[in-house]
Amino acid sequence: MKIKDIKVFVCCPGRNFVTVKIITEDGTYGLGDATLNGREMAVVAYLEEHIAPCLIGKDAHQIEDIWQYLYKGAYWQNGAVSTAAIAAIDMALWDIKGKLANMPVYQLLGGKSRKGVTVYGHANGETIEEVLKNLGTMINEGYKAVRLQCALPDTKGTYGTMEGKKNYYELQGNRPLPPEQEWSTTKYMNFIPELFKQAREKFGYAIALCHDVHSRLTPIEASRLCKLLEPYKLLFIEDAVTTENAEGYKVIREHTDTPLATGEKFNTLWDAKEMIQNQWIDYVRTAVTHGGGLTPLKKLADFASLYHVRMAPHGAPDLSPVCLMAHMHFNLWAPNFGVQEFVGFGTPELNEVFQYKVELKDGLLYMDDKPGWGIDFDEEAAKKYPYKRSYLPVNRLEDGTLWNW
Ligand SMILES: [Mg+2]
Repeated sequence: MKIKDIKVFVCCPGRNFVTVKIITEDGTYGLGDATLNGREMAVVAYLEEHIAPCLIGKDAHQIEDIWQYLYKGAYWQNGAVSTAAIAAIDMALWDIKGKLANMPVYQLLGGKSRKGVTVYGHANGETIEEVLKNLGTMINEGYKAVRLQCALPDTKGTYGTMEGKKNYYELQGNRPLPPEQEWSTTKYMNFIPELFKQAREKFGYAIALCHDVHSRLTPIEASRLCKLLEPYKLLFIEDAVTTENAEGYKVIREHTDTPLATGEKFNTLWDAKEMIQNQWIDYVRTAVTHGGGLTPLKKLADFASLYHVRMAPHGAPDLSPVCLMAHMHFNLWAPNFGVQEFVGFGTPELNEVFQYKVELKDGLLYMDDKPGWGIDFDEEAAKKYPYKRSYLPVNRLEDGTLWNW
């Protein structure tokens, strides 16, 4: 089944998304997500200029060989731009294979390992009171796991809070240059344990709770925070420190039994290898989009399973619904699946461009059985929401030093 055409779309139904559509000679098409927040057009150029011309006429069934061709064959093997591009091609080819086989993709992986996908939602707020109110709402909605993030008192802008916006898809759109935020490790360390203390006092221990540090601490600071949080029995602490130096996680591991999650910025299995085989982490957060596609992610899952490490794919609002649906299939299959991050059902604009259906029941996400990923993309609707240059914020310490955002 020859590849006839490859189209790349960029649209902004609230946030920017890069979507790839591969069309075969019989008209079957598949979709992939190539969104790299703040660097979208670099991936578009990579796809249009460097990948698409090589694939026209190739057999769409040869997913593994095409992945190797694009990864090894490029000589420049990893990097976020290239793996997001390769991932979108890989996802589109799996979608096509599922449609040609008339099966959901999870069937091609070996079938379901569970009835639904356990998700964790986000309870954010400007104050502890507001976070706890949102947590109470989510518990009533059936969530079994929730991430808590709260604005720090007397600090301008805090990661994971909504900054007064109604939903995640309002966050982008008017950021022609990166906005700047402020960070104080001292204020943060003094404040966060109180958030979890009050959450446990009010809601008990049945609800699984987690928290994202967004790589803003050093290993010994993260060790201290994880120890302070031990009484509140978190599901995990996410991105306690940056991952470039994997041994930072060894330092934390030696001090605390709070479980650790990281890897949303991993582009390859090799980024995760040292942490997994040393059992310094408990959850790998790599997404299908930023991890190079389903083809490498299933290898990552199998490797992680040897070391009791579970999969918890990244589910931020800058991953498109195509990635969410790919995660649904991956998570239904992966024997060592842990939990999926889930930020909700989007906005009318988003759901006009991407047609898909997921349903939340008792904290588990379900989908209908459809061939391929089970998602469609409306090219005409997408035209109504053109690309807007936009950036993630940058972060500075109170004295002006640039810090991790
Ligand atoms: Mg995160």
